[in-house]
Amino acid sequence: RAKDSGGLPYRLFDRDLDRRIRHLYELETSLKKAVYRQEIEIHAQRFVAAATGDVVGAELLIRWRRPEGLVSPADFIPLAERCGAIVEITDWLMREAAATSQELNQALGRRIPLAVNVSPVEFSGTGLLERMETLLLLFPDASLEVEVTEGVFAGDKAMASDILGVLGAMGVPLAIDDFGTGYSSLSYLRDHPFTKLKIDRSFIIDAPTQPRHRNIVAATVALAHSLGLKVTAEGVETEEQAEVLRAMDVDYIQGYLFGKPQPIADFVAELRQDAEG
Ligand code: C2E
Ligand code: CA
Ligand code: CA
Ligand code: CA
Repeated sequence: RAKDSGGLPYRLFDRDLDRRIRHLYELETSLKKAVYRQEIEIHAQRFVAAATGDVVGAELLIRWRRPEGLVSPADFIPLAERCGAIVEITDWLMREAAATSQELNQALGRRIPLAVNVSPVEFSGTGLLERMETLLLLFPDASLEVEVTEGVFAGDKAMASDILGVLGAMGVPLAIDDFGTGYSSLSYLRDHPFTKLKIDRSFIIDAPTQPRHRNIVAATVALAHSLGLKVTAEGVETEEQAEVLRAMDVDYIQGYLFGKPQPIADFVAELRQDAEG
């Protein structure tokens, strides 16, 4: 602390900063314990085939259960990435996902892929590959999908490319998430074995009313299809949006219109019930 920060504003600032740092430190400490304390919950949001409305998979979205309520991933993933807790969280999540997926596939007699969001942090070493290899051996009937954002290419690009290449060669379906919002580069699409492109909600919201938004969606769908990728539209909330997207040949739709994220056990139970009934 500066010796001559005698002015009141500085001292207030110092104290405030001090409090914030301590708060962050406490959050990090509890986040590191969150997995073994079983405070991380998995929610699942279905995606449906645009043409039929059939459930064809789900994205897994995590929440952190705290005494004061559920914490959104937007509020703790960045922290988890910074303090390294993300590695343990993803490790646990992928194992849960693989076990659940195998059980669900076997019960339904068809494959319902479960998509896991994997942070760019996981693309700086080989841990993810080893984990995936183990899971495929332990749960041969599981179907896991990996979603990454363009952020994976912000760090060690060569390493990230290699890891994506190996995942692709292992047969793991790879989705490029939030497409169009980051530093999108078409070379990323060209050079990696992505199987699916997810169009960000920001392009979907005004698609029914704004031709420019609609045209970007249409061009993205055409580009993706020409490269052999399937397309998911994210954040679809209205029937008007779904209608426009069907007309533009989008393959899958995800959004509140067809289902909000729900506890994964509820998602599994609903699918099993539908299959029986
Ligand atoms: P994302 O991967 O783009 O996930 C989609 C987000 O949109 C989710 O927010 C979902 O609840 C929300 N959403 C879905 N449909 C609609 C809709 O119709 N309208 C609106 N307004 N929103 C909709 P959520 O669950 O808060 O997750 C936020 C972000 O946190 C995710 O964005 C993802 O980047 C990250 N995240 C979530 N789970 C994980 C995880 O296990 N690992 C990592 N690394 N990141 C995760
Ligand atoms: Ca995602
Ligand atoms: Ca997304
Ligand atoms: Ca997003």
